Amino acid sequence: MKEHAVVIAGGGPTGMMLAGELALAGVDVAIVERRPNQELAGSRAGGLSSRTLEVFDQRGIVDRFLAEGQRAQVGGFAAMRLDISNFPTRHNYGLGLRQKHIERILAGWVSELTVPIYRGRELTCFAQDDTGVTIELSDGASLRASYLVGCDGGRSLVRKAAGIEFRGWDATTSSILAEAEMAEEPPLGIHRTVLGIHAFGREEYEIRDGKIVFANKGPIGVMVTEKNVGATIEPTLRDLREALVAACGTDYGIHSPTWISRFTDMSRQAAAYRKGRVLLAGDAAHVHSPVGGQGLNTGVQDAVNLGWKLAQVVKGTSPEGLLDTYHVERHPVAARVLRTTMAQVALQRTDDRTEALREIVSELLGMEEPRERIAAEMSGLGIHYDLGEGHPLVGRRMPDLELVTPDGPMRVFTLLQNARPLLLNLGAPGRFDIAPWADRVQLIDAEFAGTWNLPAIGAVTAPAAVLVRPDGYVAWVGDRTQPDLTDALTTWFGPPAAA
Ligand SMILES: Cc1cc2nc3c(=O)[nH]c(=O)nc-3n(C[C@H](O)[C@H](O)[C@H](O)COP(=O)(O)OP(=O)(O)OC[C@H]3O[C@@H](n4cnc5c(N)ncnc54)[C@H](O)[C@@H]3O)c2cc1C
Repeated sequence: MKEHAVVIAGGGPTGMMLAGELALAGVDVAIVERRPNQELAGSRAGGLSSRTLEVFDQRGIVDRFLAEGQRAQVGGFAAMRLDISNFPTRHNYGLGLRQKHIERILAGWVSELTVPIYRGRELTCFAQDDTGVTIELSDGASLRASYLVGCDGGRSLVRKAAGIEFRGWDATTSSILAEAEMAEEPPLGIHRTVLGIHAFGREEYEIRDGKIVFANKGPIGVMVTEKNVGATIEPTLRDLREALVAACGTDYGIHSPTWISRFTDMSRQAAAYRKGRVLLAGDAAHVHSPVGGQGLNTGVQDAVNLGWKLAQVVKGTSPEGLLDTYHVERHPVAARVLRTTMAQVALQRTDDRTEALREIVSELLGMEEPRERIAAEMSGLGIHYDLGEGHPLVGRRMPDLELVTPDGPMRVFTLLQNARPLLLNLGAPGRFDIAPWADRVQLIDAEFAGTWNLPAIGAVTAPAAVLVRPDGYVAWVGDRTQPDLTDALTTWFGPPAAA
């Protein structure tokens, strides 16, 4: 039986990001993926948020995405645009880029890191015991791993087989998505009717002055709200025609679909992100309406939160309890995502009372403070893990400052590219001695003369020293005189090595 330290079920965006993080940390990780290759049938996520771009920047791969996507103020709340160009980040925008391209770029990175992928095979069942997990595959082979992570999407077999409850709300709306030919040209763009929202577009587009301008040839992408919710079989061309006629009074002579699929606003979240040696991430842990575009982004960031923790536990540098901080930190983030998507779905209703409510919300979001607060939430820049009281940086993302170091100018994100923790000494050089953690934590003496600014918070006091986790979140802020640095180093990066 083939053995790996970690097996990931599912090579979608979450599974690949997690595999990359584990491989960077030197962990033997493999992916089991049902699809024979990375091709993705149908349309899914359409872009990346500011924080996800920062996360890719922290690993030195953001340029691969920027080279293919379109930078724009694409973030929003219930289709109300939220401009983040005044936020203090290098990536003060979103990136329009289809999921199939995001997956291809991630797959390229994971292949450079030589992660084995068992393709064209499904995980069919597993059993965990005190020392590991035995995993059965659809081709009859078995794998053994210390940990199994279910990144196998919303219908996650790993979640179901682990007996983890998927709590939440049933669907209230259902939409058909398709790509097809049409005899007549439909009005491209997003439309609202009493039945709900429908939209027409094309694969190729440009964002000009914040507006999507579609190519003028090629098959048409369709999204149309269905009258009934709760269908249990895949939608057909006939269902699509009926939904179009109900919404638009015509089906525009639709024919020759390339693919047809369906999504709903079902909102559910795993009650636990960990059960023993089995963990969940991405859509396997949370599903919701695609409105607001947070699904893929949340999954990628789950992976970045879990990766370094799992690596340290597998390598024996940290106790297993570190894994529980993954649920503690990421469960509330996805709970907020469910909340914002449910609110946006409610605001999409087209009755007069909801229209009145939309107007009020739109007025509120036109004001500086509410806009910044919701924009920080939607872009992921406002994520705050509850790591205790103290400096406002604690539990928040470390800004990508331009530092001056003994080796010359250096960006903080460049220092995070090897996914190793970082103690940044911004006071007199040589003040810190962290020899018992020197094998795990980088200690950098640096200067930064500028202002420390956080999105939606503003200027904060310049810290004397900052301990940054590999996921780019600040674990501790303080001074050499504070004994709690030892506690922070032990909590996050394991006990001191013996002298
Ligand atoms: C219409 C639509 C629009 C969306 N728009 C956005 C957006 O704008 N922004 C955004 O951030 N998100 C968006 N999303 C959500 C986004 O697509 C998902 O959140 C994202 O794909 C989740 O990634 P994942 O890796 O967790 O799961 P998935 O992408 O579902 O990947 C799971 C993988 O596991 C594999 N798998 C499943 N079961 C098994 C098994 N038993 N064995 C082996 N392999 C298995 C699957 O083949 C798949 O490759 C949208 C989704 C939809 C449907």
